[in-house]
Amino acid sequence: MASGTSKGVNQKVNDEARPRSTEIFERGKKTLVGGVDSPVRAFRAVGGTPLVIDHARGTKLYDVDGREYLDYVCSWGALILGHAHPDVVAAVTDQAAKGTSYGMTSPLEIELGEMIVKAVPSVEMVRFVSSGTEAAMSAVRLARAFAGRDMVIKFEGCYHGHSDGFLSEAGSGLATLGIAACPGVPEAFASLTLNSPFNNLDGVEKLFKKHPNKIAAIIVEPVAANMGVVAPAPGFLEGLREITKREGALLIFDEVITGFRMAYGGAQQVYKLVPDLTVMGKIIGGGLPVAAYGGKREIMERVAPLGPVYQAGTLAGNPLAMRAGLAMLPKLQATGFYEDLNRKTLRLADGLRSALRETGVEGVVNGAGSLLTIFFAGNAIRDYTDAKKSDTARFGRFFQEMLRRGVFLPPSQYEALFVSAAHTDAEIDQTIAAARSSLGALSNN
Ligand SMILES: *Cc1c(COP(=O)(O)O)cnc(C)c1O
Repeated sequence: MASGTSKGVNQKVNDEARPRSTEIFERGKKTLVGGVDSPVRAFRAVGGTPLVIDHARGTKLYDVDGREYLDYVCSWGALILGHAHPDVVAAVTDQAAKGTSYGMTSPLEIELGEMIVKAVPSVEMVRFVSSGTEAAMSAVRLARAFAGRDMVIKFEGCYHGHSDGFLSEAGSGLATLGIAACPGVPEAFASLTLNSPFNNLDGVEKLFKKHPNKIAAIIVEPVAANMGVVAPAPGFLEGLREITKREGALLIFDEVITGFRMAYGGAQQVYKLVPDLTVMGKIIGGGLPVAAYGGKREIMERVAPLGPVYQAGTLAGNPLAMRAGLAMLPKLQATGFYEDLNRKTLRLADGLRSALRETGVEGVVNGAGSLLTIFFAGNAIRDYTDAKKSDTARFGRFFQEMLRRGVFLPPSQYEALFVSAAHTDAEIDQTIAAARSSLGALSNN
């Protein structure tokens, strides 16, 4: 937030180049809260007028002023094939003419469900919902019902959507805006969520000792991506699996970001672990609103109509969204898809590290798969406490320098860059060059 108060020269240049964006955003502020429908879009952490988008294609966003940006947000990771992939567009267009919502089951849901069950090792049954928030909230409700316990452990800096129980010490927009606890969440709810530091098994052990037979589940982003990217330390996820087994609690992987990104079978495939429940979102909808939760049959069978755990959705399993998912998932199964995605991301990470070294700007690049974050910090980043030591004002200046050079990074220190299959090596190299000159400009003032 700090950089938002001291208007940098680049912020001014960026704003002045976008008169129409400014005009529309100002108009929007009268009707939409903060001019946005999701807080981080408001650029509070980096200052200046947010992007107001006209259209997008491949790796590029085009704003209402006709400016072009190389996009590393990719709808917060949902667009692993890039914007407006022709096959996804064709599928959605075809489906729209056949009806946009049936309010009844269609074969599309079963088909996409079968693809997910086949892809994700731990998932035997699945329920589609419309947002990651809804999926995480429902998975925790189910875990509580199954375990017959009320408490849940989450990790500081992890984000699981905005349902009541998850809004303490959460990452993503809450980290960006510095909201540690959210007003409107009753203390009685908040007290059922126990926070523990990421990558630290001792903290988890202590909580189980302190609350014997009270903890229903641990929910974790297997690769944390909402405090910036933080990979799990060796043994951390394995430890969570062992502890939950021993304590009769469930292990929930929130794979809303990592699902179909770390590998076709998600982070659980990479780390060879079998969680009890998995939460998915973002990628599975190909850019349309869809999310899901799934897991072991005996647990999922507690959900209504088979069991008493109620959860429903008017637009759940929406045919447009199912068609987008069905068009997208086969592309991810292409030979070498993830190898190529990860190779490009490594190239970017290496390039950014060199640029930091060459310009003498203090920073750390964390990466995992096709996710990465450049932290403006002198320390290694292994948890939320480390991440919060970053110089967010400097990040804001870097963001504006990059924007000026036509590269759109996530507008917060605490978010991941998402590389898509559409990004080319040439674009990666162009990004590294932009970063070198941006960092150079930072070290000079
Ligand atoms: C984005 C995200 C969510 C919430 O998904 P929405 O669709 O925004 O509600 C949940 N968990 C993780 C890990 C996420 O990154």
